Amino acid sequence: MSIEVKQIPCLSDNYGFLVHDTESGATASIDTPEAAAINSALAQQGWTLTHILNTHHHFDHAGGNEELKAQWGCQIIGAANDAHRIPGIDQQVVDGEWFHLGNSAVQVLEVPGHTLGHIAYYFANDKAAFVGDTLFALGCGRMFEGTAQQMWASLEKLMALPDETVVYCAHEYTQANAAFAITVEPDNSALQQRTRDIARLREQGIPTVPTTIGLERQTNPFVRPHSDDLQRTIDCVGADAVAIFAETRKRKDNF
Ligand code: ZN
Ligand code: FE
Repeated sequence: MSIEVKQIPCLSDNYGFLVHDTESGATASIDTPEAAAINSALAQQGWTLTHILNTHHHFDHAGGNEELKAQWGCQIIGAANDAHRIPGIDQQVVDGEWFHLGNSAVQVLEVPGHTLGHIAYYFANDKAAFVGDTLFALGCGRMFEGTAQQMWASLEKLMALPDETVVYCAHEYTQANAAFAITVEPDNSALQQRTRDIARLREQGIPTVPTTIGLERQTNPFVRPHSDDLQRTIDCVGADAVAIFAETRKRKDNF
């Protein structure tokens, strides 16, 4: 039981992902930012698209659903909560539910906040999580529909995954996120180091995605409300986690 992941740059700063279950040959596109780019990656790999797993309904995530379904006759899986706005949805899933992509077991995690119906997919055997626009490298999604309380609970749910979990985020936002992160946690040496690493990677056009839960735990201010450095910088000493998260998010929105 194992998967192979092909990461596909799409649109201006999105990543699409193909997940290939090596035993069965089943292949899922995680979201459909751009049908043409996904099709050329499929051709390059020699894979047949059997599924689409949508994280949320935004156009840069579900915009290619109908074109790919018409072409491949693939099965579209998405959140029951958002079934009305996931184009072509066939199978509705809810929090905690497991399903199989070929021989790989996948768990659904409801992670509302960026949108109310946002979900993540966790491939438990391979410890791989596809988190859409909920958790980014050094950042998190904007709260278009949910509250800070909901978004914080969603981030906590993801941070409960094992440290070695490989996290596939849907956008290359890392360098901009790093520029903000270092202003709110200036004394975090792991963050200082990572900021330098990211600058070097981006200079060479190398993706900073995927990341890992462990790396985010050390460096991502949005999941570090316990950090004294962060609390001091944003004037939240001793506040509760939701309030600290909310203030961090607000400052990023205005950065
Ligand atoms: Zn989105
Ligand atoms: Fe997006």
